[in-house]
Amino acid sequence: MKRVAVIGSGPAGLSAALALRENGIQPVIFERRDLPGLKLLASGGGRCNFSNSLDVESFAARFGRNGLFLRDALRVAPREWLISFLESQGVKALLTDGFYYFPASGRARDILNAFLRAAHAELRTSSEVTEILTADGSVSGVRVDGEAIAFDAVILAGGGTAWQGLGTSSGLRLAESLGHTIMKPLPAVAPLLIREDWVKALSGVSIPHAKLLLRSGKRILAESIGSLLFTHEGLSGFSALDLAGDVSALCDRTGDAELLLSIRPEWGRAEWSSELERWRREGGVKLVRTHLARHAAHSLADAVCALSGCSEAKACMLSAMQRETLLSHLAALPLTVSGAGPMEKAMAMRGGVSLREIHPATMESRLVQGLYFAGEIVDLTGPCGGYNMQWAFSSGRLAGCMRNTR
Ligand SMILES: Cc1cc2nc3c(=O)[nH]c(=O)nc-3n(C[C@H](O)[C@H](O)[C@H](O)COP(=O)(O)OP(=O)(O)OC[C@H]3O[C@@H](n4cnc5c(N)ncnc54)[C@H](O)[C@@H]3O)c2cc1C
Repeated sequence: MKRVAVIGSGPAGLSAALALRENGIQPVIFERRDLPGLKLLASGGGRCNFSNSLDVESFAARFGRNGLFLRDALRVAPREWLISFLESQGVKALLTDGFYYFPASGRARDILNAFLRAAHAELRTSSEVTEILTADGSVSGVRVDGEAIAFDAVILAGGGTAWQGLGTSSGLRLAESLGHTIMKPLPAVAPLLIREDWVKALSGVSIPHAKLLLRSGKRILAESIGSLLFTHEGLSGFSALDLAGDVSALCDRTGDAELLLSIRPEWGRAEWSSELERWRREGGVKLVRTHLARHAAHSLADAVCALSGCSEAKACMLSAMQRETLLSHLAALPLTVSGAGPMEKAMAMRGGVSLREIHPATMESRLVQGLYFAGEIVDLTGPCGGYNMQWAFSSGRLAGCMRNTR
């Protein structure tokens, strides 16, 4: 019988182990930590948002230019498979806000236990794989605690470098030592670091529905809409976290970059212009910032008016210049972003093993026969909302099918 080692007991490794078991192979899972699936347990605030309701094409599109790569994995192991597997193990899925899937119990642990139970793999915790052994270009085993153990194939599902409080992955180093190219690891799904002091002064203020645009020169590189939270270092909340991977990549190349913030995404200059006119007509003697506080927290309204030079201006007394500046700030307020992170606070890593060196139809390495990859270690990162978990489960299952690439 084929002997297969799985490196990592996260969602990707567990899903790979389950597929192996279903194919009659009893895998050995090596986990460097003393407990399995720690990131899975921490995910979604302990509830694990494991997928979402998008169809395959729309789901893949949210992974950016490289999204096409994950279509094979999603076809082999779509959301429907994951939900029906979990339900077969007594873990009911709950759809919230018509989009996010969580276990109905609200416990990520139920998902971990379902996979551990069904995969029934030999799990060796506190066992770090320090070397993947090869002979004639094919995997021949792994080295753990100085001991060489023979295997016919290895699934490397060691995760990334994000959230290092949960343990630094040595998976990237293992891949690199076998000749794989590692795309630079950068923080994704992380808070944004903003230069402007007035932003930091608003720490704790939130906007339920804001839009952020990432601009490079005249080009809009990325946009996100959702909740926004001001922090003492910049911005957090869904819309900030979603943009973090793109911000990291751009700032890594160019240094500071420009963000545009809209406090009412559905309103452009024309709508705000009508609103200013309404304030003038219906409450001209009131301060502009008093009117604006109906659309945003008082402190945010004060800050926007201060930036627009109309802190003490009444709605009926706005000069043409004040009106012009205020209008452009309300439609799109420019901010300077210096990056995202730090990596220790990131919920995902951008970068990882280059996609060019992996067969998307099997997840097998193009460089080393019998070496497969799955999950976050691969250079594919989705935004918030169950994307990264689903990718880990799907790619793990595809790798565990051990399809022959050659
Ligand atoms: C706080 C937090 C919340 C999150 N919430 C969500 C969410 O709700 N929804 C979502 O989609 N995503 C979420 N994510 C992201 C998601 O957790 C990851 O994308 C996912 O866990 C990646 O799975 P993986 O199996 O590839 O890697 P991991 O889960 O990181 O597992 C890799 C495992 O490999 C082990 N390992 C590494 N190197 C070795 C080695 N050499 N030898 C032995 N073992 C090794 C590691 O210790 C680790 O246990 C969250 C992340 C964090 C940090």
